Amino acid sequence: MFLRLSKKDIAPARFKAGLGFFLLFFSATLIVIVLLVVGLRKELAEAELSEVRQQLDTYLEENNPSNLRFGPLSFTGRKLGELQFIKFIRGNDRLLLAAENLAPELLEELLHLRSFEEQPWFQPSTTHPELIWAVTTKELPNGVVVQAAKSSVSSYGLYQDIRSKAGAITIFGFVIAWLLALFSAKKMVLPILQLHQELETVVEQGRVRLQLLNDPGNELETLYNQLNRLLEQNRRLIDEMRDSLDNVAHDLRTPMTRLRSVAEFGLQEGDDPERLRGSLADCLEESERVLAMLNIMMNVAQAESGAITLDTQPVELLESIHAMMELYDYVAQEREIAMSCTVAAEIIINADAIRISQVWGNLIDNGLKYTHENGALTIGSRLDEEQVVVSFQDDGMGISPVEQKRIWERLYRGDRSRSEQGLGLGLNYVKAMVEAHGGKVWVESELNKGTTFYVSLPLVKSDNLKVATEQ
Ligand code: ADP
Repeated sequence: MFLRLSKKDIAPARFKAGLGFFLLFFSATLIVIVLLVVGLRKELAEAELSEVRQQLDTYLEENNPSNLRFGPLSFTGRKLGELQFIKFIRGNDRLLLAAENLAPELLEELLHLRSFEEQPWFQPSTTHPELIWAVTTKELPNGVVVQAAKSSVSSYGLYQDIRSKAGAITIFGFVIAWLLALFSAKKMVLPILQLHQELETVVEQGRVRLQLLNDPGNELETLYNQLNRLLEQNRRLIDEMRDSLDNVAHDLRTPMTRLRSVAEFGLQEGDDPERLRGSLADCLEESERVLAMLNIMMNVAQAESGAITLDTQPVELLESIHAMMELYDYVAQEREIAMSCTVAAEIIINADAIRISQVWGNLIDNGLKYTHENGALTIGSRLDEEQVVVSFQDDGMGISPVEQKRIWERLYRGDRSRSEQGLGLGLNYVKAMVEAHGGKVWVESELNKGTTFYVSLPLVKSDNLKVATEQ
């Protein structure tokens, strides 16, 4: 993709992002340039030195150095070919053979030139800076040390040229490295910029899906999918909350109209205090019903949307069922229903103690309500892998297969149950709460024979596995 740099791309933040890339690119360029310059210098120097060595060897071959005449200071002007000078050193004696074109004042300097191994670009005199020589030194078998030099101005010029060009290339590389760094930084943040833009469009247009980039790459594709899941989850939550709100408003309309009618009825017939008192009492009862409905419906809505906060803790199953049975004991005795419990001891579940008690309460209440007098309600348990299944079995009126499908609905009441008091919210609450606890609830029933409700919940621990399974 072709990238163009804009003002934003040279902003300090992007500058910082590009710094790493710059250091990488620039140091790579620098290393290449330095290696090149060092390599070329070595080649040039080597060529110069081998040239001067060769010329010295040729000279020595052609002129026998054994019969040299040394004196404290001996100068001999000779034809030396390309060599600038040859100096023979034996102890304190020196013999200097200098090229004819050498300036006389240089000869003295050359005589006292310190002896060193080899140098490709040596400046023999500060007064003659134009002179650049390749100098070599060698020791002859008879102990005489020979030093010779040839001009290396042209190769030195070439080397200087290469150095200044390398400098220029370094500056050029600096600029290119910065541009490359900015492009790379832009390319790196580009998907984020696109995501940012896409999110803005989604918010503006009220969409619920992000359009995937052509090729977002693995990590980004996961991010896009996660964001899409989040958006969908939010939308579902909002829809569910809106539905719940609509339903609650709709469901409350009937009792509120009833409340209003009772109040109107009380006001219609003048000032009869008895009548007014009766109407007010009815209003109070009705409003309490509405409040109870509202509470249950709000709890169910919260549980269904996943917005409920359960205060979960280890709960001893038998203990929490016993507590609820005690509350309903009076009702059972009044209706002469034999209420019994075979739930195994020491089964621990992870639950919100209050809400799970309300679940037991609703199921016990129904069991007692919809069972004939002298009937029986048995509460039992069995373990099923990691679950405990609690059953509430009565031998009452039963539920028809058609009704079985509807009993979990909000405000549903069976036709044959109208004689009993109820809001039609009990099972709706039971289902929502059990599911919020990660459990399941189901029913088995036969008309006029009886009904069993089952609640399965994740198990924390059972020390009494054998007993529970047997039951
Ligand atoms: P309510 O008991 O207030 O009517 P529920 O939601 O608790 O509301 O129950 C919904 C319906 O399911 C009841 O009206 C009744 O028809 C049926 N039902 C619940 N439990 C039993 C039961 N143990 N035996 C027979 N029918 C039952």
